[in-house]
Amino acid sequence: MRTSKAAILWNTHEPWSVEEVEIDDPVAGEVLVKLTASGMCHSDEHLVTGDIPAPLPVIGGHEGAGVVEQVGEGVTDFAVGDHVVLSFIPSCGKCRWCSTGHQNLCDLGMHLLGGVAITDGTQRIRARGQGVGTMVLLGTFCPYVVVHQSSVVKIDPEVPLELACLTGCGVVTGWGSSVYTAEVQPGDTVVVIGVGGIGVNAIQGARLAGAKRILAIDPVEFKREQAQVFGATDVAESIDAAGPLLGMMTWGTMADKVILTTSVAEGGLIGPAMSLVSKNGVLVVTAVAPWNQNEVTLNLFDLSMMQKQIRGTVFGSANPRADIPKLLGLYKEGKLLLDELVTRTYTLEDINQGYQDMRDGKNIRGVIRFD
Ligand SMILES: [Zn+2]
Ligand SMILES: [Zn+2]
Repeated sequence: MRTSKAAILWNTHEPWSVEEVEIDDPVAGEVLVKLTASGMCHSDEHLVTGDIPAPLPVIGGHEGAGVVEQVGEGVTDFAVGDHVVLSFIPSCGKCRWCSTGHQNLCDLGMHLLGGVAITDGTQRIRARGQGVGTMVLLGTFCPYVVVHQSSVVKIDPEVPLELACLTGCGVVTGWGSSVYTAEVQPGDTVVVIGVGGIGVNAIQGARLAGAKRILAIDPVEFKREQAQVFGATDVAESIDAAGPLLGMMTWGTMADKVILTTSVAEGGLIGPAMSLVSKNGVLVVTAVAPWNQNEVTLNLFDLSMMQKQIRGTVFGSANPRADIPKLLGLYKEGKLLLDELVTRTYTLEDINQGYQDMRDGKNIRGVIRFD
């Protein structure tokens, strides 16, 4: 058992509370990781707004990287000292989805929002004398995490952990949305709607997949500037403004692939996004909608007569065990930008300032440093 500080959400629409917690040792099948850093993903904000329902209290955070400090009984794939990234999607390697190349859909995912450990349905962390859940089985807003081995991916120790943490969610989700879900091909015209931590990585994915033109849409000027750092060739401040621009860029054909990476998905965005899609083109919906969002407005005629498609994705349809090391390899070769993703770093105590900066459109990604 050890004690540490952690950022806990006790009620929705409240700030994160940074306070002392007690952390138990890992049991069989679990790993204790001392984190170097945690990304501040928008999805943790969805806990605060209640758009993602989770039992409270909960320790937020799901983009962590660090060093294995202790392993539970029966853990053979990890050893003390290993550098690891935590994947927000666990992968058992054995279920129907894992064994057919869809680790992002692993059946263990059903435990993601349960707030209790996969191993035994209990909790490893206590605050104010009661058990505390962890965001998607991780809870990286705490420098120590006890996680199931299915959530842990070993990485090249040469990659800085404070950058590697971003591949636990945002980088793979954005990159995979372009490369795997949209299946961007060399020569495609791609539109990315919403330039946050996911959107810039969708732009990088499209660039690496050989897109001819990449149009990034965001109302914030800073975000449009950042989009160009990651590979956008054109920018627009709204879907309405993008329509005529895209028409000129493509001689009226419109975009082969459109990827929706806004901070929140809303039913009313689907129709306008589909207006940017070409015949036989694809709209990928990566952005998370409130869990009770049931109404969508779009022109159904488009689906049959224009052969347009809409595809959803979680974790960019990627395989954490293959794709996290792959992306870190692309980083080492200078092909994937990670340093540029981190706009600002924060201490754990500054977490609420970090999220305010995100809401204000000042950050592509804020990162909490624990060292
Ligand atoms: Zn995330
Ligand atoms: Zn599985």
